[in-house]
Amino acid sequence: MRTPPDFIVCPRSDVLVIGAGAAGLSVALAAAPRTVRVLSLAEPARDGASTWAQGGIAAALGKQDSPALHAADTLAAGQYLNQPEAVARLTAAAASVIDWLQTLGAHFDRRDDVLLLGREAAHGQARIVHAHGDATGAEVMRALGAASRAAAHIELAPARCVIALAQDALARVIGAWAWNGQALELWPARAIVLASGGYAALYRYTTNPTASDGSGVALALAAGAQLADLEFVQFHPTALAPRDAVRSGQLPLLTEALRGAGATLIDAHGARFMLAEHALAELAPRDVVARAIAARRLADTQVYLDARVAVGAEFPQRFPTVFAACMQAGIDPRVQPIPVTPAAHYCMGGVRTDAQARSTLDGLYAVGEAAASGVHGANRLASNSLLEGLAFGRELGLTLAATLPQEGGVTQPCPRHFAPLPAPLRVALADMLWAQAGLARSEYGLALAAAQIGHWLEPMDATASGADLLRFAAAAVAAMRARRHSIGAHWRSDAQQAA
Ligand SMILES: Cc1cc2nc3c(=O)[nH]c(=O)nc-3n(C[C@H](O)[C@H](O)[C@H](O)COP(=O)(O)OP(=O)(O)OC[C@H]3O[C@@H](n4cnc5c(N)ncnc54)[C@H](O)[C@@H]3O)c2cc1C
Repeated sequence: MRTPPDFIVCPRSDVLVIGAGAAGLSVALAAAPRTVRVLSLAEPARDGASTWAQGGIAAALGKQDSPALHAADTLAAGQYLNQPEAVARLTAAAASVIDWLQTLGAHFDRRDDVLLLGREAAHGQARIVHAHGDATGAEVMRALGAASRAAAHIELAPARCVIALAQDALARVIGAWAWNGQALELWPARAIVLASGGYAALYRYTTNPTASDGSGVALALAAGAQLADLEFVQFHPTALAPRDAVRSGQLPLLTEALRGAGATLIDAHGARFMLAEHALAELAPRDVVARAIAARRLADTQVYLDARVAVGAEFPQRFPTVFAACMQAGIDPRVQPIPVTPAAHYCMGGVRTDAQARSTLDGLYAVGEAAASGVHGANRLASNSLLEGLAFGRELGLTLAATLPQEGGVTQPCPRHFAPLPAPLRVALADMLWAQAGLARSEYGLALAAAQIGHWLEPMDATASGADLLRFAAAAVAAMRARRHSIGAHWRSDAQQAA
């Protein structure tokens, strides 16, 4: 008598995409007529960061603008640690990405039938394409989701948590192991694309949904792929501060466009403190503003974004998403200043990829926020990340439509079992990363973080899926220790940090 297998083998596809955000669905749509299966934690548009994107998508469409000017701004924001070729490819692809989205049914804001272009910090031109004012991500995901559901070559498989990449004896990636809530599944494919988003939700204060917890990048690390730039985490200066100081998790983002529209930052006494911090005051680079706010909050001074004069009664029309979030929190931003905190917002680092989105492991590709493609350098230029996922995702899909990698061998047994980090440990990790590996870092604090993660790992079953997340957090902390001048975070002396 044969014993039943302890896992389900799903049908083989040409391409398996892990993640149904903007990047993953772009790969899937462009890979036609290849068969594509898309695994995700929830329905597309329900979990990843893409749906939350507010400001828009950067594209050099203005009369005075060009991909070269867009590239120059991207390089300057990235502190010239970007890969210039990747940046040139990204900015050159932007116009066709906008056209493509419109052919898929996305509606962007227009006046007299001309696309409206917004301007954001560190952009030399107005080049931000947006939808419904501040709900660009939701509109993009509506269009991509509808197109994917209608596409005959795509099968969406939500409610799957991928816990390991399937590899053959030569470490080639040949599929993924997923937990469907009841059973383990093996999803074999010729090409495996990681489009699982970033890891900003590992931090206590974050603008990201819980799906952005880095578990996808952790899969790649566990399989032996090289990661890059993990130390570069972008903190948004203005998230809606929680009433309850103990609470953590996703906080509503108060878009930069509010400060662009003239909203000011004030302390508890109503004083505009950014005037003394930087010549550009509230429109200084994100990291400068974020640190100025964090320093005041550390000193127990609440900080507010004051849009009463600059936006006032027009708030509901101009910033409907932010308005709704404020009202839900019991704050009427037309007449009240909004309490703010910096929050982890975007991760420049991830799976190291080359110009064809290939990782260092055969068979494995990465796109979107999960990838470190080199476009963002040390600091992402606003509205370049949706663009990256869409442009490079689509490019990879077209490449896979033309050529698939060679067939792999027989899969090795699944190296993990489904056992996520217990909730109290997740909270402790989030608090520790916020305190030691956030906006202010020191060798002392990072060494403490590394030791603590090691201590948590010690008694854990090494084959538990949650252990991968801790090992990934350890890798991020190690990268931060190695690159002391990390931009976006402020390196403090050990004495300062201990104080
Ligand atoms: C509040 C907010 C506002 C933003 N505003 C902008 C903006 O205006 N412009 C801009 O360019 N960028 C913006 N960004 C950043 C941008 O939204 C993201 O960088 C981008 O959408 C990431 O897309 P993605 O497809 O790579 O990942 P995501 O959209 O995060 O999708 C990740 C997918 O991976 C799946 N997944 C994750 N782990 C697993 C697992 N273990 N198993 C199975 N599936 C998994 C998830 O279910 C999800 O489907 C914003 C981000 C936030 C949070």
